Amino acid sequence: MIVNMSTNATPDEIDHIIERIKECGFQAHVVQGAERTIIGAIGSSGRRSEIEALRAAPGVDEVIQISHPFKLVSRQLRQARTVVDVRGKKIGAGDVVVIAGPCSVESEAQLLETAHAVKASGASMLRGGAYKPRTSPYDFQGLGVEALRFLQKASSETGLPIVTEVMSEADVEIVEEYADMMQVGARNMQNFSLLRKLALVSKPVLLKRGPSATVKEWLLAAEYLLAGGNTNVVLCERGIKTFETATRNTLDLAAVALVKELSHLPVLADPSHGTGMRSLITPMSKAAVAAGADGLLIEVHPCPERALSDGPQSLDLQGFQELMESLGQAPAREAKAA
Ligand code: PEP
Ligand code: MN
Repeated sequence: MIVNMSTNATPDEIDHIIERIKECGFQAHVVQGAERTIIGAIGSSGRRSEIEALRAAPGVDEVIQISHPFKLVSRQLRQARTVVDVRGKKIGAGDVVVIAGPCSVESEAQLLETAHAVKASGASMLRGGAYKPRTSPYDFQGLGVEALRFLQKASSETGLPIVTEVMSEADVEIVEEYADMMQVGARNMQNFSLLRKLALVSKPVLLKRGPSATVKEWLLAAEYLLAGGNTNVVLCERGIKTFETATRNTLDLAAVALVKELSHLPVLADPSHGTGMRSLITPMSKAAVAAGADGLLIEVHPCPERALSDGPQSLDLQGFQELMESLGQAPAREAKAA
Protein backbone atom coordinates (compact mmCIF):
# COMPACT_ATOMS: atom_id res chain seq x y z
CA MET A 1 0.00 0.00 0.00
CA ILE A 2 1.06 3.59 -0.60
CA VAL A 3 0.43 6.49 1.74
CA ASN A 4 0.53 9.77 -0.19
CA MET A 5 1.29 12.60 2.18
CA SER A 6 -0.21 15.98 1.39
CA THR A 7 2.10 18.65 -0.03
CA ASN A 8 2.11 20.56 3.26
CA ALA A 9 2.61 17.55 5.59
CA THR A 10 5.00 18.37 8.43
CA PRO A 11 8.07 16.24 9.27
CA ASP A 12 6.31 15.14 12.50
CA GLU A 13 3.26 13.97 10.55
CA ILE A 14 5.51 12.02 8.15
CA ASP A 15 7.42 10.43 11.06
CA HIS A 16 4.15 9.44 12.71
CA ILE A 17 3.00 7.58 9.57
CA ILE A 18 6.35 5.80 9.27
CA GLU A 19 6.04 4.69 12.91
CA ARG A 20 2.47 3.44 12.43
CA ILE A 21 3.46 1.48 9.30
CA LYS A 22 6.26 -0.24 11.25
CA GLU A 23 3.99 -0.92 14.23
CA CYS A 24 1.61 -2.71 11.87
CA GLY A 25 4.42 -5.06 10.79
CA PHE A 26 5.25 -3.50 7.39
CA GLN A 27 8.49 -2.00 6.12
CA ALA A 28 8.21 1.73 5.45
CA HIS A 29 9.87 2.88 2.20
CA VAL A 30 10.00 6.63 1.96
CA VAL A 31 10.11 8.19 -1.51
CA GLN A 32 10.86 11.88 -1.37
CA GLY A 33 9.29 13.52 -4.44
CA ALA A 34 9.78 17.11 -5.58
CA GLU A 35 6.43 18.15 -4.13
CA ARG A 36 5.34 15.48 -1.70
CA THR A 37 6.48 12.48 0.30
CA ILE A 38 5.17 9.04 -0.59
CA ILE A 39 5.51 6.19 1.90
CA GLY A 40 5.21 2.59 0.77
CA ALA A 41 3.97 0.05 3.32
CA ILE A 42 5.61 -3.11 2.03
CA GLY A 43 5.28 -6.62 3.43
CA SER A 44 2.79 -9.33 4.17
CA SER A 45 1.38 -8.24 7.50
CA GLY A 46 -2.29 -8.97 8.11
CA ARG A 47 -2.89 -5.47 9.49
CA ARG A 48 -3.71 -3.83 6.16
CA SER A 49 -6.94 -2.31 7.41
CA GLU A 50 -4.98 -0.27 9.95
CA ILE A 51 -2.88 1.20 7.10
CA GLU A 52 -6.07 1.96 5.17
CA ALA A 53 -7.37 3.77 8.24
CA LEU A 54 -4.38 6.11 8.12
CA ARG A 55 -6.19 8.11 5.45
CA ALA A 56 -7.80 9.87 8.42
CA ALA A 57 -4.43 10.82 9.98
CA PRO A 58 -3.14 14.41 9.84
CA GLY A 59 -1.00 15.19 6.79
CA VAL A 60 -2.26 12.21 4.76
CA ASP A 61 -3.77 12.88 1.36
CA GLU A 62 -4.72 9.33 0.33
CA VAL A 63 -3.95 5.66 0.89
CA ILE A 64 -3.88 3.54 -2.25
CA GLN A 65 -3.32 -0.06 -3.14
CA ILE A 66 -0.29 -1.06 -5.27
CA SER A 67 -2.06 -3.25 -7.79
CA HIS A 68 1.04 -5.13 -9.03
CA PRO A 69 2.69 -7.99 -7.13
CA PHE A 70 6.02 -6.15 -7.48
CA LYS A 71 6.03 -3.10 -5.23
CA LEU A 72 9.41 -1.38 -4.82
CA VAL A 73 10.24 -1.65 -8.53
CA SER A 74 6.83 -0.29 -9.50
CA ARG A 75 6.22 3.16 -10.90
CA GLN A 76 3.13 3.27 -8.72
CA LEU A 77 5.46 3.73 -5.77
CA ARG A 78 8.05 5.83 -7.51
CA GLN A 79 7.25 7.94 -10.57
CA ALA A 80 10.71 9.45 -10.97
CA ARG A 81 13.05 7.26 -12.98
CA THR A 82 15.96 5.63 -11.20
CA VAL A 83 19.37 6.64 -12.52
CA VAL A 84 22.07 4.06 -11.76
CA ASP A 85 25.57 5.42 -11.42
CA VAL A 86 28.26 2.94 -12.44
CA ARG A 87 31.54 4.58 -11.46
CA GLY A 88 30.47 7.91 -12.92
CA LYS A 89 28.56 6.55 -15.95
CA LYS A 90 24.86 7.16 -15.54
CA ILE A 91 22.31 4.65 -16.82
CA GLY A 92 18.76 5.96 -17.15
CA ALA A 93 19.65 9.64 -17.29
CA GLY A 94 18.61 10.07 -20.93
CA ASP A 95 21.73 9.18 -22.93
CA VAL A 96 22.01 5.76 -24.55
CA VAL A 97 24.71 3.86 -22.65
CA VAL A 98 26.58 1.25 -24.69
CA ILE A 99 28.30 -1.60 -22.85
CA ALA A 100 30.56 -3.56 -25.19
CA GLY A 101 33.16 -6.30 -25.08
CA PRO A 102 33.70 -9.98 -25.65
CA CYS A 103 31.33 -12.71 -24.51
CA SER A 104 34.27 -14.33 -22.69
CA VAL A 105 37.56 -12.89 -21.57
CA GLU A 106 39.97 -15.22 -23.39
CA SER A 107 43.38 -13.61 -22.91
CA GLU A 108 44.92 -10.35 -21.79
CA ALA A 109 45.76 -9.39 -25.39
CA GLN A 110 42.22 -10.14 -26.67
CA LEU A 111 40.65 -8.09 -23.89
CA LEU A 112 43.00 -5.10 -24.08
CA GLU A 113 42.65 -4.85 -27.86
CA THR A 114 38.87 -4.96 -27.57
CA ALA A 115 38.74 -2.52 -24.66
CA HIS A 116 40.81 0.15 -26.44
CA ALA A 117 38.82 -0.27 -29.66
CA VAL A 118 35.36 -0.08 -28.08
CA LYS A 119 36.45 2.92 -26.04
CA ALA A 120 37.66 4.70 -29.20
CA SER A 121 34.29 3.92 -30.84
CA GLY A 122 32.36 5.51 -27.98
CA ALA A 123 31.41 2.65 -25.64
CA SER A 124 30.72 3.74 -22.05
CA MET A 125 31.58 0.48 -20.29
CA LEU A 126 33.47 -2.76 -20.91
CA ARG A 127 31.86 -6.17 -20.56
CA GLY A 128 33.49 -9.59 -20.53
CA GLY A 129 32.68 -12.92 -18.93
CA ALA A 130 35.10 -14.41 -16.40
CA TYR A 131 32.65 -17.08 -15.17
CA LYS A 132 30.66 -18.43 -18.11
CA PRO A 133 27.30 -20.20 -17.91
CA ARG A 134 27.64 -22.72 -20.77
CA THR A 135 24.99 -25.16 -21.92
CA SER A 136 27.58 -27.91 -22.26
CA PRO A 137 30.07 -28.77 -19.50
CA TYR A 138 32.65 -29.46 -22.25
CA ASP A 139 32.58 -25.87 -23.53
CA PHE A 140 34.94 -23.10 -22.38
CA GLN A 141 33.93 -22.17 -18.83
CA GLY A 142 35.84 -18.88 -18.46
CA LEU A 143 39.20 -17.95 -16.94
CA GLY A 144 37.77 -17.01 -13.53
CA VAL A 145 39.93 -14.79 -11.34
CA GLU A 146 42.59 -14.44 -14.03
CA ALA A 147 39.95 -12.86 -16.27
CA LEU A 148 38.92 -10.49 -13.48
CA ARG A 149 42.54 -9.28 -13.31
CA PHE A 150 42.61 -8.71 -17.07
CA LEU A 151 39.37 -6.75 -16.76
CA GLN A 152 40.91 -4.63 -14.04
CA LYS A 153 43.92 -3.89 -16.22
CA ALA A 154 41.70 -3.02 -19.20
CA SER A 155 39.69 -0.72 -16.99
CA SER A 156 42.71 1.07 -15.62
CA GLU A 157 44.12 1.55 -19.14
CA THR A 158 40.88 2.82 -20.67
CA GLY A 159 38.94 4.25 -17.72
CA LEU A 160 35.93 2.12 -18.72
CA PRO A 161 33.89 0.66 -15.84
CA ILE A 162 33.65 -3.14 -15.84
CA VAL A 163 30.51 -5.27 -16.14
CA THR A 164 30.94 -8.99 -15.52
CA GLU A 165 28.74 -11.91 -14.54
CA VAL A 166 28.60 -13.47 -11.11
CA MET A 167 27.39 -17.04 -11.52
CA SER A 168 27.31 -18.37 -8.01
CA GLU A 169 26.95 -17.22 -4.44
CA ALA A 170 30.47 -18.47 -3.78
CA ASP A 171 31.91 -15.91 -6.24
CA VAL A 172 30.01 -12.85 -5.02
CA GLU A 173 32.85 -11.47 -2.92
CA ILE A 174 35.58 -11.80 -5.52
CA VAL A 175 33.41 -10.42 -8.35
CA GLU A 176 32.30 -7.54 -6.14
CA GLU A 177 35.95 -6.66 -5.61
CA TYR A 178 36.67 -6.31 -9.35
CA ALA A 179 33.37 -5.43 -11.05
CA ASP A 180 31.79 -1.99 -11.23
CA MET A 181 28.44 -3.61 -12.08
CA MET A 182 27.65 -7.27 -11.33
CA GLN A 183 25.66 -9.14 -13.98
CA VAL A 184 23.11 -11.80 -13.12
CA GLY A 185 22.88 -14.00 -16.20
CA ALA A 186 19.62 -15.06 -17.77
CA ARG A 187 19.88 -18.58 -16.38
CA ASN A 188 20.25 -17.25 -12.85
CA MET A 189 17.42 -14.72 -12.93
CA GLN A 190 15.39 -16.76 -10.46
CA ASN A 191 18.32 -17.93 -8.32
CA PHE A 192 16.75 -16.37 -5.26
CA SER A 193 19.59 -17.09 -2.87
CA LEU A 194 22.04 -15.40 -5.27
CA LEU A 195 19.65 -12.43 -5.57
CA ARG A 196 19.37 -12.17 -1.79
CA LYS A 197 23.14 -12.07 -1.51
CA LEU A 198 23.45 -9.47 -4.26
CA ALA A 199 20.89 -7.32 -2.45
CA LEU A 200 23.63 -6.73 0.12
CA VAL A 201 26.53 -5.80 -2.19
CA SER A 202 27.89 -2.30 -2.67
CA LYS A 203 27.82 -2.50 -6.48
CA PRO A 204 24.95 -2.03 -8.96
CA VAL A 205 23.40 -5.21 -10.40
CA LEU A 206 22.54 -5.85 -14.05
CA LEU A 207 19.64 -8.31 -14.03
CA LYS A 208 19.12 -10.14 -17.31
CA ARG A 209 15.71 -11.52 -18.15
CA GLY A 210 15.43 -15.30 -17.97
CA PRO A 211 14.91 -17.02 -21.35
CA SER A 212 11.52 -18.30 -20.19
CA ALA A 213 10.58 -15.60 -17.70
CA THR A 214 7.49 -13.45 -17.96
CA VAL A 215 7.81 -9.71 -17.39
CA LYS A 216 6.12 -10.21 -14.02
CA GLU A 217 8.65 -12.86 -12.96
CA TRP A 218 11.52 -10.63 -14.12
CA LEU A 219 10.26 -7.65 -12.13
CA LEU A 220 9.69 -9.85 -9.08
CA ALA A 221 13.30 -11.02 -9.36
CA ALA A 222 14.33 -7.34 -9.32
CA GLU A 223 12.03 -6.88 -6.32
CA TYR A 224 14.26 -9.32 -4.36
CA LEU A 225 17.22 -6.98 -4.91
CA LEU A 226 15.35 -3.82 -3.89
CA ALA A 227 13.59 -5.47 -0.97
CA GLY A 228 16.96 -6.66 0.32
CA GLY A 229 18.42 -3.16 0.13
CA ASN A 230 20.09 -2.77 -3.28
CA THR A 231 18.27 -0.06 -5.22
CA ASN A 232 20.93 0.17 -7.96
CA VAL A 233 19.39 -2.28 -10.37
CA VAL A 234 19.47 -2.21 -14.18
CA LEU A 235 17.28 -4.60 -16.17
CA CYS A 236 18.35 -6.19 -19.47
CA GLU A 237 16.10 -7.78 -22.09
CA ARG A 238 18.18 -10.46 -23.83
CA GLY A 239 15.61 -12.46 -25.76
CA ILE A 240 13.22 -15.21 -24.77
CA LYS A 241 12.43 -18.69 -26.03
CA THR A 242 9.55 -18.83 -28.48
CA PHE A 243 8.55 -21.26 -31.26
CA GLU A 244 10.82 -19.33 -33.64
CA THR A 245 14.09 -21.07 -34.45
CA ALA A 246 15.40 -18.71 -37.16
CA THR A 247 16.96 -16.56 -34.44
CA ARG A 248 18.68 -17.84 -31.27
CA ASN A 249 16.10 -16.10 -29.07
CA THR A 250 13.25 -13.67 -29.73
CA LEU A 251 14.27 -10.18 -28.63
CA ASP A 252 11.13 -8.93 -26.89
CA LEU A 253 11.21 -5.21 -27.49
CA ALA A 254 7.60 -4.80 -26.41
CA ALA A 255 8.85 -5.89 -22.98
CA VAL A 256 11.37 -3.03 -23.02
CA ALA A 257 8.61 -0.49 -23.65
CA LEU A 258 6.29 -2.21 -21.15
CA VAL A 259 8.89 -2.33 -18.38
CA LYS A 260 9.48 1.39 -18.86
CA GLU A 261 5.77 1.85 -18.15
CA LEU A 262 5.64 -0.51 -15.19
CA SER A 263 8.95 0.23 -13.47
CA HIS A 264 11.21 3.17 -12.67
CA LEU A 265 14.34 1.01 -13.20
CA PRO A 266 16.50 1.54 -16.30
CA VAL A 267 16.32 -1.11 -19.02
CA LEU A 268 18.96 -2.22 -21.50
CA ALA A 269 18.61 -4.42 -24.57
CA ASP A 270 21.07 -7.12 -25.65
CA PRO A 271 20.62 -7.72 -29.37
CA SER A 272 23.62 -10.08 -29.45
CA HIS A 273 22.01 -12.79 -27.27
CA GLY A 274 18.56 -11.60 -28.36
CA THR A 275 19.13 -12.65 -31.97
CA GLY A 276 22.31 -14.75 -32.09
CA MET A 277 23.04 -13.14 -35.47
CA ARG A 278 25.65 -10.48 -36.15
CA SER A 279 23.70 -9.02 -39.08
CA LEU A 280 20.70 -8.27 -36.85
CA ILE A 281 22.60 -6.34 -34.18
CA THR A 282 22.43 -2.94 -35.85
CA PRO A 283 18.74 -3.00 -36.83
CA MET A 284 17.70 -4.37 -33.44
CA SER A 285 19.90 -1.86 -31.61
CA LYS A 286 18.09 0.96 -33.42
CA ALA A 287 14.73 -0.66 -32.70
CA ALA A 288 15.62 -1.04 -29.00
CA VAL A 289 16.54 2.62 -28.70
CA ALA A 290 13.29 3.55 -30.46
CA ALA A 291 11.40 1.36 -27.94
CA GLY A 292 12.92 3.35 -25.08
CA ALA A 293 15.94 1.26 -24.03
CA ASP A 294 18.34 3.19 -21.83
CA GLY A 295 21.29 1.41 -23.35
CA LEU A 296 22.67 -1.61 -25.18
CA LEU A 297 24.83 -4.62 -24.37
CA ILE A 298 26.86 -5.62 -27.42
CA GLU A 299 29.30 -8.51 -27.86
CA VAL A 300 32.49 -7.50 -29.65
CA HIS A 301 35.53 -9.64 -30.51
CA PRO A 302 38.68 -8.75 -32.48
CA CYS A 303 38.27 -11.96 -34.49
CA PRO A 304 34.79 -13.45 -34.01
CA GLU A 305 35.63 -16.60 -35.99
CA ARG A 306 38.16 -17.48 -33.28
CA ALA A 307 35.91 -16.61 -30.32
CA LEU A 308 35.62 -19.29 -27.64
CA SER A 309 31.95 -18.36 -27.13
CA ASP A 310 29.25 -16.54 -29.08
CA GLY A 311 31.34 -15.67 -32.16
CA PRO A 312 28.38 -15.66 -34.58
CA GLN A 313 26.65 -12.94 -32.56
CA SER A 314 29.77 -10.82 -31.98
CA LEU A 315 30.70 -7.76 -34.01
CA ASP A 316 34.33 -7.29 -34.98
CA LEU A 317 36.04 -4.01 -34.06
CA GLN A 318 35.19 -2.34 -37.36
CA GLY A 319 31.60 -3.59 -37.19
CA PHE A 320 31.24 -2.07 -33.73
CA GLN A 321 32.62 1.27 -34.94
CA GLU A 322 30.02 1.20 -37.76
CA LEU A 323 27.23 0.35 -35.30
CA MET A 324 28.20 3.30 -33.12
CA GLU A 325 28.31 5.59 -36.13
CA SER A 326 24.88 4.47 -37.28
CA LEU A 327 23.50 5.07 -33.77
CA GLY A 328 25.10 8.52 -33.68
CA GLN A 329 27.15 7.38 -30.66
CA ALA A 330 30.66 7.44 -32.13
CA PRO A 331 32.85 10.33 -31.04
CA ALA A 332 33.37 12.90 -33.79
CA ARG A 333 36.54 12.16 -35.73
CA GLU A 334 39.20 14.80 -35.33
CA ALA A 335 39.34 17.08 -38.33
CA LYS A 336 42.39 16.25 -40.42
CA ALA A 337 44.97 19.03 -40.68
CA ALA A 338 44.74 20.72 -44.07
C1 PEP B 1 26.44 -13.04 -21.54
O1 PEP B 1 26.10 -11.86 -21.34
O2 PEP B 1 27.51 -13.38 -22.06
C2 PEP B 1 25.47 -14.11 -21.21
C3 PEP B 1 25.87 -15.34 -20.91
O3 PEP B 1 24.21 -13.67 -21.30
P1 PEP B 1 22.83 -14.41 -20.94
O4 PEP B 1 22.89 -14.69 -19.48
O5 PEP B 1 21.81 -13.36 -21.32
O6 PEP B 1 22.74 -15.64 -21.79
MN1 MN C 1 27.63 -14.35 -24.68
